[in-house]
Amino acid sequence: MKGELIIIKLGGSVITFKDRPFTPNVLAIKRLAREITESKASPLIIVHGGGSFGHTLAAEYGIAGGLKGGEQMLGFSKTHNAMVRLNMLVVEALLDEGLPAVSFSPSSFIITRRGRIQSLYMDALEQALKSGFIPVLYGDAVLDYAQGSAILSGDQIAARLAVEFDARRVIFGVDVDGLYTSDPKVVQNARLITEITVEDLKGITASVGGARASDVTGGMMGKILEIIDLVSRGIEVLIINALRENNIYRALRGESVVGTRIIGGKV
Ligand code: ADP
Repeated sequence: MKGELIIIKLGGSVITFKDRPFTPNVLAIKRLAREITESKASPLIIVHGGGSFGHTLAAEYGIAGGLKGGEQMLGFSKTHNAMVRLNMLVVEALLDEGLPAVSFSPSSFIITRRGRIQSLYMDALEQALKSGFIPVLYGDAVLDYAQGSAILSGDQIAARLAVEFDARRVIFGVDVDGLYTSDPKVVQNARLITEITVEDLKGITASVGGARASDVTGGMMGKILEIIDLVSRGIEVLIINALRENNIYRALRGESVVGTRIIGGKV
């Protein structure tokens, strides 16, 4: 399997309407299920984000910052359960297309320490891949050795699995065309960066918290931090717009797609 695996991360901004609590983008989920199936990509792992399913309850109960007992424990369970519901929609769409997708619940085999993956049990996942199944994972509320609970992002899961399985390519599907010079939803003349080296990516990271803090915020910043480690290991990384029809299909087939390619050396 080494060097063959493709990992696709479908952002919460793609499969849900982020500004409407618990609202899936059913049309996008169905279309993506079709594109993934038609691409015949294999071996493949699918990871998806939480969007308005994960973040609503996680924020309400403060799950990411740790577990202090009481009401929060219920919040942890509810957050996890909301993600299970979203995951079911994704898996069902894939099954409808005839893909042997199997849900893997991150909280049942991954424990974090201060929000970073500390221990994970890979055997079942590896065996599923070897048998030809398509594992489907998601950002989840997980148990954390240091703080009780944490929110483990789909981005971190995708990146860690890519390292563990020595993946060939990781494709991050989001709701914008890739990494821009600034948030394209905020800055009108933000430019798409079609190719960037790890060194330049690190530069963007270093500037966060300083004057350019708004250049890469929230989710995109989180992705960048996870991506740096991948590219240093020779894994191809693409950030593309999964809301544009056929982008995911083409990226899975190895065809060129408008987006951001992160490369190891200097441009
Ligand atoms: P997902 O949840 O789908 O993984 P996020 O919503 O966390 O994705 O991140 C994607 C969002 O990041 C985009 O919708 C965009 O508004 C925002 N963003 C912030 N800075 C940038 C940037 N420099 N380039 C591209 N997108 C950015």
